[in-house]
Amino acid sequence: MDRIKLGLAGIGKIARDQHLPAITASDDFDLTATASRHGRVDGIEGHGSIAELIAARPEIDAISLCTPPEGRFEQAMTAIAGGKHVMLEKPPAATVSEARALEQAARAAGVTLFATWHSREAGEVDAARDWLAGRRIDAVRIRWMEDIRQWHPGQDWILAAGGFGVFDPGINALSIATRILPQPLTVLAATMDVPANRACPVAASVTFRTGAAEVDAKFDFLQTGEQTWHIEVETDAGLLRLTQGGGRLDLPGQPPLSGPDREYPRLYRTFADLIRRGESDVDLQPIQLVADAFLVAERRIVEAFEF
Ligand code: NAP
Repeated sequence: MDRIKLGLAGIGKIARDQHLPAITASDDFDLTATASRHGRVDGIEGHGSIAELIAARPEIDAISLCTPPEGRFEQAMTAIAGGKHVMLEKPPAATVSEARALEQAARAAGVTLFATWHSREAGEVDAARDWLAGRRIDAVRIRWMEDIRQWHPGQDWILAAGGFGVFDPGINALSIATRILPQPLTVLAATMDVPANRACPVAASVTFRTGAAEVDAKFDFLQTGEQTWHIEVETDAGLLRLTQGGGRLDLPGQPPLSGPDREYPRLYRTFADLIRRGESDVDLQPIQLVADAFLVAERRIVEAFEF
């Protein structure tokens, strides 16, 4: 296949911040059209929905979805039914069962489905995984604390049912943890703070287990001042610190490592490779862990939240 004709759906914050620059710089994709109810991209043909886009441009090979998770299932199903390869922003769907159904539908249709986890592509995640391989893990601390008003201004959907609340960013930490830790994670306990006027938590504490070690994870959407996206792993060879969302790595006795930010270019390269090989990549561990945390969580109602 030559260059892949791409449709981009959900022209909002992440589409503009990351997808459009990555697609423009890509040797693999040509952006042919967009599908969004309100959003348009200058110079690119725009349609109001994926169904309209497919009807108008049947030659499109693939569709990349940048909409919120609630509603993404129907959009992805429409694309798969139209014979298009599909790339999903994280989280891949609103529920695990939806994501599994998408995987099955893509397999039956013979198209590629790529459930992306952009934080796994951060500069030092692979190096952290390589260093941890074969080491004894004694304890893990996750601190994913950011200001919702700074990073998600006015995005009410994040705190509505199906929006994941603080797990919208928090799932990024879990996508990294499940990539770098040698043993699988399971959920032991959770507490979630849900504002009186919202459906999803603005803060959560979750205890996971990995091998014999406990993982103490704190997620906070009301963090002002320093913003924190850190994972620390105590091992038999000392402390690993992966900070800045996976962009910086501190290992015992070594100068800090800091790789370039190429998360979305790497995702689009992988999507093109998967399409050319006729494969899919659908790892549901991060969303499964969030779902399990919701299953066991003790919920506390806290002060109402307004942006
Ligand atoms: P957003 O700007 O609020 O929404 C993206 C677009 O989706 C909207 O502009 C809207 O376009 C469309 N949309 C369809 N149904 C919608 C609904 N029910 N509510 C609101 N918009 C709807 O969101 P975003 O920040 O780009 O996030 C989209 C996805 O990317 C999420 O899964 C998020 O987790 C992920 N993501 C976000 C970031 C970030 O920093 N923001 C980073 C990485 C990943 P139309 O009105 O034109 O249809």
